[in-house]
Amino acid sequence: MTEKLYDVDSTLQEFDCKVVGLYRVDDTTLGVETDRTAFFPEGGGQTSDRGAFFVDAVTPAIHVENVQIDTEHLLHFVENSEENVKSLKIGTLLHGKIDWKKRFSDMQQHSGEHILSGIVHRLYGFNNVGFHLSAQEVTVDFDGELTENDICKVESLVNETIWQNLEIHAWYPSETDLLAITYRSKKEIDGPLRLVEIPSVDICACCAPHVRRTGEIGLLRVVQAERHRGGTRLWILCGARAMEDAAAKLKENHKVGVLLSAKQTETFAAVQRLKEKNAALSFALVGTQRELLALRAKTVTPQTALVEQIDADGTLLRDYADLLADKADAFAAVFSAGDDMKFVIISKHGFALAPVAETLRSTFGAKCGGRGGVLQGALCGAFDAVRATLETIAKQGGRAQ
Ligand SMILES: [Zn+2]
Repeated sequence: MTEKLYDVDSTLQEFDCKVVGLYRVDDTTLGVETDRTAFFPEGGGQTSDRGAFFVDAVTPAIHVENVQIDTEHLLHFVENSEENVKSLKIGTLLHGKIDWKKRFSDMQQHSGEHILSGIVHRLYGFNNVGFHLSAQEVTVDFDGELTENDICKVESLVNETIWQNLEIHAWYPSETDLLAITYRSKKEIDGPLRLVEIPSVDICACCAPHVRRTGEIGLLRVVQAERHRGGTRLWILCGARAMEDAAAKLKENHKVGVLLSAKQTETFAAVQRLKEKNAALSFALVGTQRELLALRAKTVTPQTALVEQIDADGTLLRDYADLLADKADAFAAVFSAGDDMKFVIISKHGFALAPVAETLRSTFGAKCGGRGGVLQGALCGAFDAVRATLETIAKQGGRAQ
């Protein structure tokens, strides 16, 4: 099995090695096995390292996009190209270089997660039952419910631990030593067990590389929390990711502050005032619309069916239909604007609305219901076509066509 250099030195960015196995994974991928590697393969919830192998100064770099491990092999996945097949032979000496920016960020997130999980376990007894670390997000699942206050408290303690700059120690204990150690573990592990210890905070079984001291994590922020399978899922960010996220949100808050002429610490109050003002204006607008519709209703000439579309919603549809229905022998129908229309149909002179509902359902896929001379619902269609259908029904005394 390949010697895992990352196990011993998590800061190793470059290394020399020799090709000891070559495997055709599929048409596009070649698996390269080396005698030693600093590339961390996917495992423990963490995606693999990526980077490149170099044969010599003139041969183009061989990009490593993925690294996978099973019980027998640790394979670096590279492109199954003509050049790579030509360059890579059993015994070829390679210089490996890992993408350090990704690796360091991964270690920051992972070490941060260990501190978080250790503290949650100590304070609340909840276990980490799921961890996922990718370029898009970092999630940690606990088998118990954490309140907003719990999360604030944990976040604060995690950062205090980070700033204590404690040394992080990873080792393979002997089976005898292991009996005397209490540690967290998500599952039974085959083969030798590796422990990662953050003194007085956490000891956890883990195969991944970690930062050397907690101070390198910089900062941990819990950016989202949700109930998940009877427990809690937390989204966390550490180090540069935490800073970038905070910077993006600060920028957004700054833009809101500029729009509302509010200090950055007072944007919530400013938005709240704006919402209250908006609600008052909407209320006044509905009042004005109601008055205008009442005036409009007075100008309408009585007909068998009155079918109109208005730029309003909610109770205004019903109020206006009610006014028009006085002037319609069959019924008045009022639709909201657009093709996705809400509607209210009112009959005040005994015209049955059940056949109207049936026609609207079968012709336009309407979802509607009602009783006592009122039918309301929604449908999607062209208003002119709907109006023509309704006028035909009214003229034919309740039968379409
Ligand atoms: Zn871990």
